[in-house]
Amino acid sequence: MIGKRIEQAINEQIKNELYSAYLYLSMAAYFEDQNLPGMAKWMYGQAKEEQEHAMKFFRFIVERGGRVELHAIDKPDFTFESPLSVFEKSLAHEKLVTSLIYKLYEIALEEKDYPAQVMLQWFIEEQVEEEDNVTGVIEMLKMTDGKPYQLLMLDGKLGAR
Ligand code: MG
Repeated sequence: MIGKRIEQAINEQIKNELYSAYLYLSMAAYFEDQNLPGMAKWMYGQAKEEQEHAMKFFRFIVERGGRVELHAIDKPDFTFESPLSVFEKSLAHEKLVTSLIYKLYEIALEEKDYPAQVMLQWFIEEQVEEEDNVTGVIEMLKMTDGKPYQLLMLDGKLGAR
C-alpha cells in the first residue's frame, strides 16, 4: 500500500507532466502557425512523451493500491517571440521538472518507499536526456542566427527525428 504523503506528491506530479504535454502542444501550435512543421513535429513528440510520463506515475499509484486524483491543468503560454525563445522556455521548463523529480525522490527517501525510489530513478535519467536534447536544439538554433534558409534546414532536420 502506498503512503499518503508519496501518493499526494505523485498525484501532483501527474498534473505537472500533463501540464508539460499541454505546454508542448501549445508550442507545436505556434510552430504550425509559423510554417515550421519539423519543429511542430518535434513538439508533438515531446507532448506524447509527457503523456506517457503522466501515465507511468498514474499506473504506479494504481499498482500500489492508491487512489489517483487528477488536478486542474493551468493554461500554457500562447504567444512566443521566436523559435529560439520557445526552445529556451522548453529548457527552463525541463529544469523545473527535474527539480520537482528530485523533490519527489527526497520524499521517497524520507518515507523509505523503495519501489518509489526505483521508479523515480528512471525519471532522473530521463530528465538528463530531456535537458540534453533541448540544449542540442538551442545550440543548433543559435548557429542559424535567425537566417530563414538555415532555419528551414534545421526545421527539416528536426522533422526527421
Ligand atoms: Mg516529463
